[in-house]
Order: sequence, then C-alpha cells, then structure tokens
Amino acid sequence: TYVVTDACIRCKYMDCVEVCPVDCFYEGENMLVINPNECIDCGVCEPECPAEAILPDTENGLEKWLELNSKYSAEW
Ligand code: SF4
Repeated sequence: TYVVTDACIRCKYMDCVEVCPVDCFYEGENMLVINPNECIDCGVCEPECPAEAILPDTENGLEKWLELNSKYSAEW
C-alpha cells in the first residue's frame, strides 16, 4: 500500500484524489489518508502529489504514518 505522510498536512491539493482509480483517499484530521485495505498499489498518485507526501510503505520508518492512514480512513 501507499501511505500519506506529514508533508500533506494542511496541503490544499487534491491531485492524488483525482487520479486514484479506486477512490481510496479519505479526509483525516488535517491531511488526506489512504485506506491501506483499498489501495491496489498502482503508484499513480505518488508523482501527482505536489508536496511529495505519498510514499510506498516499503520505505523505512513509515509505521506511524501507516497507522494513522489506517485509523483515519477507518472512520468513514
Ligand atoms: Fe490509489 Fe493507486 Fe495511490 Fe493506491 S497507489 S492510493 S490505488 S492511486
């Protein structure tokens, strides 16, 4: 899955939401999040993010963000 990280906080761009083929972006407290159960790992959103906030969860140190993405997207 891909995860949204801190660079997204208070970002006003929605480019990622528009390109996601499975509509798995949700609104978190002050940032967007990706539902890890719905993301199909296509990677289309990553280069679209002007804040470079979207990363694959295979990168190190993203546990905290993955948890937040899960938590906020589950509230919908
Ligand atoms: Fe959506 Fe693809 Fe990005 Fe996952 S990787 S959030 S499916 S655009």
